[in-house]
Amino acid sequence: PSNAKPRGRQFFNNPGPTNIPDRVLRAMDRPVMDFMSDEFVAIHHACHAGVKRVLKTDQGLYMYNASGHGAWEAALANLFAAGDTVLIIETGYFSLGWAEMAVNLGIKVETIAADWRKGADVSKVGERLAKDKAHEIKAVLCVHNETATGMVLPLSDIRRAIDEAKHPALLLSDTISSLASIEYKMDAWGIDVTVGGSQKGLMLPTGMSFTGVSNKALDVARKNKAPRHYFHWELMNGRAPQKFMGTAPVHMFFGLQESLKMLEEEGLDAVFARHARLAEATRAAVRAWAADGKGPQLYGQSPDRLSNSVTTVMMPEGVSSDPLRKVAIDRYNLSLGGGLGPLMGKVFRIGHMGDLNEPMLLGCLATTELAMKTAGVPFSPGGVDAAIDSLAS
Ligand code: PLP
Repeated sequence: PSNAKPRGRQFFNNPGPTNIPDRVLRAMDRPVMDFMSDEFVAIHHACHAGVKRVLKTDQGLYMYNASGHGAWEAALANLFAAGDTVLIIETGYFSLGWAEMAVNLGIKVETIAADWRKGADVSKVGERLAKDKAHEIKAVLCVHNETATGMVLPLSDIRRAIDEAKHPALLLSDTISSLASIEYKMDAWGIDVTVGGSQKGLMLPTGMSFTGVSNKALDVARKNKAPRHYFHWELMNGRAPQKFMGTAPVHMFFGLQESLKMLEEEGLDAVFARHARLAEATRAAVRAWAADGKGPQLYGQSPDRLSNSVTTVMMPEGVSSDPLRKVAIDRYNLSLGGGLGPLMGKVFRIGHMGDLNEPMLLGCLATTELAMKTAGVPFSPGGVDAAIDSLAS
Protein backbone atom coordinates (compact mmCIF):
# COMPACT_ATOMS: atom_id res chain seq x y z
CA PRO A 1 0.00 0.00 0.00
CA SER A 2 1.18 3.51 -0.81
CA ASN A 3 1.06 4.64 2.83
CA ALA A 4 3.31 1.78 4.02
CA LYS A 5 6.27 2.98 6.05
CA PRO A 6 9.59 2.35 4.27
CA ARG A 7 11.60 -0.52 5.73
CA GLY A 8 15.06 -0.12 7.14
CA ARG A 9 16.78 2.87 8.60
CA GLN A 10 16.35 6.28 7.07
CA PHE A 11 19.60 7.78 5.82
CA PHE A 12 19.43 11.34 7.01
CA ASN A 13 21.81 13.67 5.19
CA ASN A 14 20.21 17.03 5.71
CA PRO A 15 22.60 19.77 6.78
CA GLY A 16 20.68 20.17 10.01
CA PRO A 17 19.03 18.92 11.95
CA THR A 18 21.39 15.97 11.99
CA ASN A 19 21.32 12.37 13.20
CA ILE A 20 20.77 12.18 16.94
CA PRO A 21 23.02 9.40 18.28
CA ASP A 22 21.29 6.60 20.19
CA ARG A 23 23.44 7.46 23.19
CA VAL A 24 21.99 10.98 23.23
CA LEU A 25 18.43 9.70 22.80
CA ARG A 26 18.95 7.22 25.67
CA ALA A 27 20.41 9.96 27.86
CA MET A 28 17.29 12.05 27.29
CA ASP A 29 14.96 9.15 28.03
CA ARG A 30 14.60 9.75 31.74
CA PRO A 31 12.11 11.34 34.11
CA VAL A 32 11.90 15.08 34.50
CA MET A 33 13.88 16.83 37.20
CA ASP A 34 13.35 20.03 39.19
CA PHE A 35 15.37 22.59 37.28
CA MET A 36 16.24 24.36 40.54
CA SER A 37 17.52 21.18 42.20
CA ASP A 38 21.19 20.79 43.08
CA GLU A 39 21.34 17.79 40.78
CA PHE A 40 20.20 19.78 37.76
CA VAL A 41 22.28 22.85 38.61
CA ALA A 42 25.37 20.62 38.56
CA ILE A 43 24.37 19.23 35.13
CA HIS A 44 23.72 22.75 33.85
CA HIS A 45 27.09 24.02 35.03
CA ALA A 46 28.90 21.02 33.54
CA CYS A 47 27.18 21.65 30.19
CA HIS A 48 28.08 25.34 30.29
CA ALA A 49 31.71 24.46 30.85
CA GLY A 50 31.57 21.83 28.09
CA VAL A 51 30.05 24.17 25.49
CA LYS A 52 32.73 26.74 26.36
CA ARG A 53 35.40 24.11 25.70
CA VAL A 54 33.84 23.39 22.30
CA LEU A 55 33.66 27.12 21.51
CA LYS A 56 37.22 27.46 22.84
CA THR A 57 36.33 30.41 25.01
CA ASP A 58 36.89 31.37 28.64
CA GLN A 59 34.43 34.24 28.41
CA GLY A 60 30.63 34.48 28.71
CA LEU A 61 27.95 32.04 27.56
CA TYR A 62 24.17 32.48 27.47
CA MET A 63 21.75 29.74 26.45
CA TYR A 64 18.18 30.06 25.24
CA ASN A 65 15.05 27.99 24.71
CA ALA A 66 15.03 28.95 21.04
CA SER A 67 16.34 27.76 17.68
CA GLY A 68 19.33 29.50 16.11
CA HIS A 69 17.19 32.48 15.16
CA GLY A 70 16.85 33.22 18.88
CA ALA A 71 20.62 33.40 19.33
CA TRP A 72 20.86 35.62 16.24
CA GLU A 73 18.34 37.97 17.83
CA ALA A 74 20.05 37.79 21.24
CA ALA A 75 23.30 39.02 19.70
CA LEU A 76 21.60 41.91 17.89
CA ALA A 77 19.23 42.93 20.70
CA ASN A 78 21.96 43.09 23.34
CA LEU A 79 24.56 44.95 21.34
CA PHE A 80 22.74 47.41 19.11
CA ALA A 81 20.05 50.06 19.22
CA ALA A 82 17.82 51.21 16.37
CA GLY A 83 19.87 53.45 14.09
CA ASP A 84 23.20 51.71 14.75
CA THR A 85 25.11 50.45 11.71
CA VAL A 86 26.57 46.99 11.19
CA LEU A 87 28.56 45.54 8.32
CA ILE A 88 27.58 42.07 7.17
CA ILE A 89 29.63 39.89 4.86
CA GLU A 90 27.39 38.32 2.25
CA THR A 91 27.72 34.56 2.06
CA GLY A 92 24.27 33.36 1.03
CA TYR A 93 20.80 32.65 2.35
CA PHE A 94 21.76 32.76 6.03
CA SER A 95 23.74 36.00 5.86
CA LEU A 96 20.71 37.53 4.14
CA GLY A 97 18.49 36.16 6.92
CA TRP A 98 20.59 37.65 9.71
CA ALA A 99 20.74 40.96 7.83
CA GLU A 100 16.95 40.97 7.39
CA MET A 101 16.52 40.41 11.12
CA ALA A 102 18.84 43.35 11.85
CA VAL A 103 16.86 45.60 9.49
CA ASN A 104 13.61 44.55 11.18
CA LEU A 105 15.13 45.56 14.53
CA GLY A 106 15.84 49.03 13.13
CA ILE A 107 19.58 48.46 12.65
CA LYS A 108 21.21 49.90 9.53
CA VAL A 109 22.90 47.18 7.52
CA GLU A 110 25.74 47.62 5.08
CA THR A 111 26.80 44.62 3.07
CA ILE A 112 30.14 43.44 1.69
CA ALA A 113 28.64 41.95 -1.45
CA ALA A 114 30.01 38.66 -2.70
CA ASP A 115 29.57 36.06 -5.39
CA TRP A 116 27.98 33.13 -3.51
CA ARG A 117 30.01 30.57 -5.48
CA LYS A 118 33.37 32.24 -4.96
CA GLY A 119 32.99 33.72 -1.49
CA ALA A 120 33.66 37.21 -0.14
CA ASP A 121 36.90 39.09 -0.66
CA VAL A 122 38.01 39.71 2.93
CA SER A 123 40.24 42.65 1.98
CA LYS A 124 37.06 44.61 1.25
CA VAL A 125 36.16 44.45 4.94
CA GLY A 126 39.39 46.21 5.88
CA GLU A 127 38.96 48.78 3.08
CA ARG A 128 35.45 49.64 4.24
CA LEU A 129 36.42 49.91 7.91
CA ALA A 130 39.47 52.06 7.11
CA LYS A 131 37.11 54.59 5.50
CA ASP A 132 34.85 54.66 8.57
CA LYS A 133 36.86 57.30 10.45
CA ALA A 134 33.91 58.17 12.72
CA HIS A 135 33.56 54.51 13.76
CA GLU A 136 29.91 54.42 12.88
CA ILE A 137 30.12 50.72 12.08
CA LYS A 138 29.56 48.96 15.37
CA ALA A 139 30.24 45.42 14.27
CA VAL A 140 31.14 43.04 11.47
CA LEU A 141 28.70 40.13 11.18
CA CYS A 142 29.48 36.93 9.35
CA VAL A 143 28.33 33.37 8.90
CA HIS A 144 31.35 31.13 9.45
CA ASN A 145 29.87 28.22 7.51
CA GLU A 146 27.14 29.21 5.04
CA THR A 147 24.86 26.19 5.16
CA ALA A 148 23.12 27.17 1.92
CA THR A 149 26.23 27.30 -0.28
CA GLY A 150 28.56 24.96 1.59
CA MET A 151 31.32 27.54 1.93
CA VAL A 152 33.33 28.84 4.87
CA LEU A 153 34.81 32.22 5.73
CA PRO A 154 38.35 32.63 7.09
CA LEU A 155 37.46 34.18 10.45
CA SER A 156 40.99 34.89 11.63
CA ASP A 157 41.64 36.84 8.40
CA ILE A 158 38.53 38.90 9.07
CA ARG A 159 39.71 39.65 12.61
CA ARG A 160 43.09 40.68 11.17
CA ALA A 161 41.41 42.97 8.65
CA ILE A 162 39.49 44.70 11.46
CA ASP A 163 42.62 45.10 13.56
CA GLU A 164 44.77 46.33 10.67
CA ALA A 165 42.14 48.98 9.95
CA LYS A 166 42.52 49.97 13.64
CA HIS A 167 38.76 49.84 13.97
CA PRO A 168 36.94 49.01 17.22
CA ALA A 169 34.12 47.07 15.53
CA LEU A 170 33.00 43.90 17.27
CA LEU A 171 33.20 40.65 15.33
CA LEU A 172 30.06 38.49 15.44
CA SER A 173 30.10 35.05 13.94
CA ASP A 174 27.37 32.49 13.29
CA THR A 175 28.81 29.04 13.86
CA ILE A 176 25.52 27.17 13.70
CA SER A 177 26.64 24.72 11.01
CA SER A 178 30.35 24.69 11.80
CA LEU A 179 30.56 24.21 15.57
CA ALA A 180 31.77 20.75 16.56
CA SER A 181 32.31 19.87 12.89
CA ILE A 182 34.95 22.36 11.75
CA GLU A 183 37.71 23.96 13.80
CA TYR A 184 36.48 26.99 15.72
CA LYS A 185 38.52 29.08 18.17
CA MET A 186 36.41 31.87 19.59
CA ASP A 187 39.01 33.52 21.83
CA ALA A 188 42.10 32.90 19.69
CA TRP A 189 40.34 34.30 16.62
CA GLY A 190 39.09 37.36 18.50
CA ILE A 191 35.40 36.65 18.03
CA ASP A 192 33.21 38.82 20.24
CA VAL A 193 29.95 36.95 19.85
CA THR A 194 29.48 33.41 18.61
CA VAL A 195 26.01 32.24 17.67
CA GLY A 196 25.46 28.49 17.97
CA GLY A 197 22.62 25.99 17.97
CA SER A 198 21.87 22.51 19.25
CA GLN A 199 20.79 20.62 16.14
CA LYS A 200 23.93 20.27 14.03
CA GLY A 201 27.41 19.41 15.28
CA LEU A 202 26.13 19.00 18.83
CA MET A 203 23.83 16.21 17.57
CA LEU A 204 20.82 17.28 19.65
CA PRO A 205 17.20 18.05 18.82
CA THR A 206 16.46 21.55 17.57
CA GLY A 207 15.35 24.08 20.16
CA MET A 208 18.30 25.29 22.16
CA SER A 209 20.73 27.94 21.02
CA PHE A 210 23.41 30.00 22.68
CA THR A 211 25.78 32.91 22.35
CA GLY A 212 29.39 32.97 23.45
CA VAL A 213 30.07 36.55 24.50
CA SER A 214 33.44 38.26 24.93
CA ASN A 215 34.08 40.61 27.84
CA LYS A 216 34.30 43.45 25.32
CA ALA A 217 30.87 42.59 23.92
CA LEU A 218 29.40 42.28 27.40
CA ASP A 219 30.65 45.75 28.17
CA VAL A 220 29.00 47.11 25.02
CA ALA A 221 25.77 45.33 25.98
CA ARG A 222 25.82 46.82 29.47
CA LYS A 223 25.88 50.32 28.01
CA ASN A 224 23.18 49.61 25.44
CA LYS A 225 19.85 51.11 26.49
CA ALA A 226 17.78 49.48 23.71
CA PRO A 227 14.69 47.66 25.04
CA ARG A 228 14.91 43.88 25.30
CA HIS A 229 13.94 41.27 27.84
CA TYR A 230 13.97 37.55 27.00
CA PHE A 231 17.49 37.66 25.60
CA HIS A 232 18.83 40.31 28.03
CA TRP A 233 22.28 39.12 29.12
CA GLU A 234 22.38 41.30 32.24
CA LEU A 235 18.94 40.08 33.34
CA MET A 236 20.10 36.53 32.73
CA ASN A 237 23.17 37.13 34.90
CA GLY A 238 20.77 37.89 37.73
CA ARG A 239 18.89 34.61 37.30
CA ALA A 240 21.14 32.48 39.48
CA PRO A 241 21.84 29.66 39.71
CA GLN A 242 21.31 28.89 36.02
CA LYS A 243 21.32 32.18 34.12
CA PHE A 244 18.35 30.73 32.19
CA MET A 245 15.34 32.85 31.30
CA GLY A 246 12.27 30.78 32.18
CA THR A 247 12.13 27.04 32.70
CA ALA A 248 15.37 25.34 31.77
CA PRO A 249 14.83 22.51 29.24
CA VAL A 250 16.28 19.78 31.42
CA HIS A 251 16.05 17.06 28.79
CA MET A 252 18.03 19.15 26.34
CA PHE A 253 20.74 19.38 28.98
CA PHE A 254 20.64 15.60 29.61
CA GLY A 255 21.26 15.17 25.88
CA LEU A 256 23.90 17.89 25.77
CA GLN A 257 25.82 16.33 28.62
CA GLU A 258 26.00 13.08 26.63
CA SER A 259 26.87 14.71 23.31
CA LEU A 260 29.68 16.70 24.95
CA LYS A 261 30.94 13.44 26.43
CA MET A 262 30.92 11.84 22.98
CA LEU A 263 32.78 14.77 21.42
CA GLU A 264 35.40 14.73 24.15
CA GLU A 265 35.83 10.95 24.06
CA GLU A 266 36.58 11.19 20.34
CA GLY A 267 38.57 14.39 20.81
CA LEU A 268 37.65 17.59 18.97
CA ASP A 269 40.64 17.35 16.63
CA ALA A 270 39.61 13.83 15.65
CA VAL A 271 36.02 15.05 15.14
CA PHE A 272 37.30 17.75 12.76
CA ALA A 273 39.54 15.24 10.96
CA ARG A 274 36.60 12.83 10.52
CA HIS A 275 34.49 15.61 9.02
CA ALA A 276 37.36 16.62 6.72
CA ARG A 277 37.66 13.00 5.51
CA LEU A 278 33.94 12.60 4.91
CA ALA A 279 33.72 15.98 3.18
CA GLU A 280 36.65 15.22 0.89
CA ALA A 281 35.06 11.90 -0.09
CA THR A 282 31.77 13.67 -0.84
CA ARG A 283 33.56 16.20 -3.03
CA ALA A 284 35.41 13.38 -4.81
CA ALA A 285 32.06 11.79 -5.64
CA VAL A 286 30.60 15.03 -6.94
CA ARG A 287 33.69 15.75 -9.04
CA ALA A 288 33.33 12.31 -10.61
CA TRP A 289 29.61 12.92 -11.36
CA ALA A 290 30.63 16.16 -13.10
CA ALA A 291 33.49 14.60 -15.08
CA ASP A 292 31.92 14.78 -18.56
CA GLY A 293 30.60 18.29 -17.95
CA LYS A 294 26.93 17.21 -18.05
CA GLY A 295 26.34 16.06 -14.49
CA PRO A 296 25.84 17.84 -11.16
CA GLN A 297 28.89 19.75 -9.94
CA LEU A 298 30.24 21.40 -6.80
CA TYR A 299 28.48 24.71 -6.20
CA GLY A 300 31.46 26.31 -4.47
CA GLN A 301 34.24 27.40 -6.81
CA SER A 302 36.94 28.34 -4.29
CA PRO A 303 38.66 25.09 -3.26
CA ASP A 304 40.04 26.55 -0.02
CA ARG A 305 36.58 27.69 1.10
CA LEU A 306 34.66 24.41 0.68
CA SER A 307 32.85 23.35 3.83
CA ASN A 308 33.63 20.17 5.72
CA SER A 309 30.11 19.94 7.12
CA VAL A 310 27.89 20.36 4.05
CA THR A 311 28.37 20.03 0.30
CA THR A 312 26.11 21.99 -2.02
CA VAL A 313 25.71 20.31 -5.38
CA MET A 314 24.58 22.32 -8.40
CA MET A 315 22.24 20.60 -10.83
CA PRO A 316 22.91 20.56 -14.57
CA GLU A 317 21.37 23.49 -16.45
CA GLY A 318 17.59 23.06 -16.77
CA VAL A 319 17.36 20.04 -14.43
CA SER A 320 15.54 20.63 -11.14
CA SER A 321 16.75 19.04 -7.90
CA ASP A 322 13.17 18.65 -6.63
CA PRO A 323 12.26 15.36 -8.40
CA LEU A 324 15.65 13.93 -7.43
CA ARG A 325 15.11 14.71 -3.76
CA LYS A 326 11.56 13.39 -3.94
CA VAL A 327 12.68 10.07 -5.42
CA ALA A 328 15.48 9.87 -2.85
CA ILE A 329 13.12 10.22 0.10
CA ASP A 330 9.97 8.55 -1.23
CA ARG A 331 11.55 5.49 -2.83
CA TYR A 332 14.83 5.06 -1.04
CA ASN A 333 14.31 6.73 2.34
CA LEU A 334 17.30 9.03 1.87
CA SER A 335 16.78 12.60 3.07
CA LEU A 336 18.86 15.20 1.21
CA GLY A 337 18.78 18.96 1.75
CA GLY A 338 17.18 21.25 -0.81
CA GLY A 339 18.24 24.61 -2.20
CA LEU A 340 17.38 27.70 -0.19
CA GLY A 341 16.16 31.06 -1.46
CA PRO A 342 17.35 31.69 -5.03
CA LEU A 343 19.02 28.25 -5.06
CA MET A 344 15.69 26.43 -4.64
CA GLY A 345 15.49 23.65 -7.24
CA LYS A 346 18.95 24.56 -8.58
CA VAL A 347 21.00 22.67 -6.01
CA PHE A 348 20.71 19.90 -3.47
CA ARG A 349 22.77 19.63 -0.33
CA ILE A 350 24.50 16.68 1.28
CA GLY A 351 24.87 17.24 5.00
CA HIS A 352 27.85 15.37 6.45
CA MET A 353 27.99 16.89 9.90
CA GLY A 354 27.38 15.42 13.31
CA ASP A 355 27.09 11.72 14.03
CA LEU A 356 28.26 10.25 10.71
CA ASN A 357 30.77 7.63 9.59
CA GLU A 358 32.07 6.14 6.34
CA PRO A 359 29.32 3.54 5.78
CA MET A 360 26.62 6.14 6.40
CA LEU A 361 28.22 8.53 3.91
CA LEU A 362 28.79 5.82 1.30
CA GLY A 363 25.17 4.74 1.70
CA CYS A 364 24.12 8.30 1.06
CA LEU A 365 26.36 8.75 -1.97
CA ALA A 366 25.40 5.40 -3.52
CA THR A 367 21.72 6.10 -2.96
CA THR A 368 22.10 9.58 -4.43
CA GLU A 369 23.48 7.91 -7.57
CA LEU A 370 20.57 5.47 -7.54
CA ALA A 371 18.10 8.33 -7.17
CA MET A 372 19.82 10.26 -10.00
CA LYS A 373 19.40 7.22 -12.25
CA THR A 374 15.77 6.78 -11.26
CA ALA A 375 14.99 10.47 -11.69
CA GLY A 376 16.80 10.68 -15.05
CA VAL A 377 19.47 13.14 -13.91
CA PRO A 378 22.53 12.89 -16.19
CA PHE A 379 25.81 12.15 -14.41
CA SER A 380 29.16 10.50 -15.05
CA PRO A 381 29.55 7.16 -13.24
CA GLY A 382 32.24 6.50 -10.67
CA GLY A 383 31.22 8.81 -7.84
CA VAL A 384 31.07 6.09 -5.21
CA ASP A 385 34.38 4.60 -6.38
CA ALA A 386 35.98 8.03 -6.15
CA ALA A 387 34.62 8.45 -2.61
CA ILE A 388 35.95 5.00 -1.62
CA ASP A 389 39.38 5.85 -3.07
CA SER A 390 39.36 9.11 -1.18
CA LEU A 391 38.42 7.41 2.11
CA ALA A 392 40.93 4.58 1.61
CA SER A 393 43.79 7.01 1.01
N1 PLP B 1 22.48 30.20 10.59
C1 PLP B 1 22.87 29.13 9.89
C2 PLP B 1 24.24 29.09 9.30
C3 PLP B 1 22.00 28.04 9.74
O1 PLP B 1 22.39 26.97 9.03
C4 PLP B 1 20.71 28.11 10.31
C5 PLP B 1 19.78 26.99 10.14
O2 PLP B 1 19.99 26.07 9.40
C6 PLP B 1 20.36 29.25 11.03
C7 PLP B 1 21.27 30.29 11.14
C8 PLP B 1 19.03 29.39 11.65
O3 PLP B 1 18.93 28.50 12.74
P1 PLP B 1 17.54 27.89 13.19
O4 PLP B 1 16.94 27.24 11.99
O5 PLP B 1 17.93 26.91 14.25
O6 PLP B 1 16.72 29.01 13.70
